[in-house]
Amino acid sequence: MTVAEQTEHVHESELELYLKDQLSRESLATIDAHLRSCQACSGKLAEQDKCLWYLAELSSNENYGNGERRRHPRLATDDPASLQVLNPFSDDAWEVRIVDVSRSGLRTLTTKRLLPGSLVKVKMQYSVACGDVRYCIPADNGFYAGIRLHDYFVPKA
Ligand SMILES: [Zn+2]
Repeated sequence: MTVAEQTEHVHESELELYLKDQLSRESLATIDAHLRSCQACSGKLAEQDKCLWYLAELSSNENYGNGERRRHPRLATDDPASLQVLNPFSDDAWEVRIVDVSRSGLRTLTTKRLLPGSLVKVKMQYSVACGDVRYCIPADNGFYAGIRLHDYFVPKA
């Protein structure tokens, strides 16, 4: 990696694409590397998530009854998903299973313990969403983690 790549901060629009999982593989690698080493940008990533969440809330209120605007994902239990912790930032993503779906969120079975309050990105079969960890309790083969999904979803490309 060049020095220029290390010192150049990630633009907000790129952070948004990062959350929505719409970056090319190449820029994803660059941004992952930057976020690992830059607290300013990984902090901004969490801010960006709040911002998107807020906007989603606003537009869902404005367009109440208009199913087109809100893109709810098709969620199913026992679906595999991949999970990444965004805050505190890690570029490590691992496979989890969705064991329960409710209106407010998901319960996942994960091999790694998650810290309550951390911000995570969940890539599901049809969509990508961010949310925060409400609880994490030991299970027979890992941990059950409850995730409150923030109300914006992006269909996977
Ligand atoms: Zn930065």
